[in-house]
Amino acid sequence: MDYDTRMGEIIFHNTMGGRKEPFVPLQAGEVRMYTCGPTVYNFAHIGNFRTFVFQDILRRFLRSRGLHVIQVMNSTDVDDRIIANAAAEGVDIRTYTEKYIEAFLADRRALSLEMPEYIVRATDHIEDMVKLIERLAAKGFTYVSEGSTYFRISKFPNYGKLTKLDVTGIQAGARVDVDQYDKADARDFALWKAPKPGEFFWETRIGPGRPGWHIECSAMAMKYLGETIDIHSGGVDLAFPHHENEIAQSEAATGKRFVDYWLHAEHLLVNFEKMSKSLGNFFTLRDLLAKGNKPSALRFLLASVPYRRQLNFTQEGLQQASSSVERLRNFAGRLRSGKFPAGISPVSEDAIKAERDFEHGLEDDLNTAQALAAIFDLVRESNTAMDHGEFRQGDVGPALHALEIFDRIFAVLEDDDAQKLQALGLGSEASAPDHEIEVLVAERQAARKSRDFAKADRIRNELAGRGIVLEDARDGEIRWKRK
Ligand SMILES: [Zn+2]
Repeated sequence: MDYDTRMGEIIFHNTMGGRKEPFVPLQAGEVRMYTCGPTVYNFAHIGNFRTFVFQDILRRFLRSRGLHVIQVMNSTDVDDRIIANAAAEGVDIRTYTEKYIEAFLADRRALSLEMPEYIVRATDHIEDMVKLIERLAAKGFTYVSEGSTYFRISKFPNYGKLTKLDVTGIQAGARVDVDQYDKADARDFALWKAPKPGEFFWETRIGPGRPGWHIECSAMAMKYLGETIDIHSGGVDLAFPHHENEIAQSEAATGKRFVDYWLHAEHLLVNFEKMSKSLGNFFTLRDLLAKGNKPSALRFLLASVPYRRQLNFTQEGLQQASSSVERLRNFAGRLRSGKFPAGISPVSEDAIKAERDFEHGLEDDLNTAQALAAIFDLVRESNTAMDHGEFRQGDVGPALHALEIFDRIFAVLEDDDAQKLQALGLGSEASAPDHEIEVLVAERQAARKSRDFAKADRIRNELAGRGIVLEDARDGEIRWKRK
């Protein structure tokens, strides 16, 4: 069967222009994509990971369409906070940022995020940034003040075109020096910052100092992907000023359009409030995993809300995501281990329809909610057919194929949460109190009694991942102990 014939046109909402457009890459068969990465001065929080999961869904979907994706993600490993924190710890910034880069990569693995083709550090690209600043200087887009080089916004008439920012009131020469920006008004921004006394700096042709935040993305995007790229994405809070500034620097230097499609992920809220440390509702990925939440449930939850909708994160939502994943895994287990009468039933048609609807959902600006609804319809219809003895052996193939198509994008079916937690140094005794183990052992017993051996095995594996060994005692009871 040729599944490709069911694929339709891909539509993305382009922040530039503010509407949905058919996606047509510059080079047929290839997608060049830049995604703004983390500033590595801390562990990434779930708001960050909402965007990274969206970008993973995006690249997996494009790849599932046979497109060759080249993705570049940066690590911002120099900024005000990094310089200050490293100095406070008495280490160089490389040493300081290294542990957070490692942690970020480990977190990505826990969430089954595919590796971008390039993950690049700002501090490895100082020369590329200096060259780009020299190019801007040669065209008169820069000025120097107190040793720092600034971009002159008034020289770039299209400034603000991405976010439709009104820059008529901008004061010529009003500058911003810090890395954390006021989100309200446009100012000339620093391309290159002179060092403060005692501060770390690079000695370069444009003077001693260090790069501003924005220039790194323009320099690295163009170095690896060319002067015009297909997709640039990030969180919606990056659109201004970061992405406006990237556009200004890149297009002023090259005279070409920098990006064809701008995709921005909406905010994540926690109980309808903005996540913030002062409100006590700020979670890193590790905070949530250390509480015993499963990586697959977090991935599923973050992926399940279409990226342009705000995602309201709640513990109940996370529990629902966990049972959704469980439901899908149980269904896959039931398909693989069940014995059904020969023949086919209408479920085979349902499976083909589910695949088509799944693809159509994703084609429509990555509508993951619609795509998931198609798969859960199939799960429900199949389970009902199985319960009534109407499911046939010939339905197994189409149903499994639909699950496979689903999992290429959502990547939650593999039962590897325990291993992933262990890889992060979590999921040990500390995070699995006795009562949790008791509940799992009882669940496994119940599964065995109802002859659901797939589930029983899965629970045994999960327990094993937490370092729990099961022993069948003479009296028919199950005992458990820690390894
Ligand atoms: Zn960026």
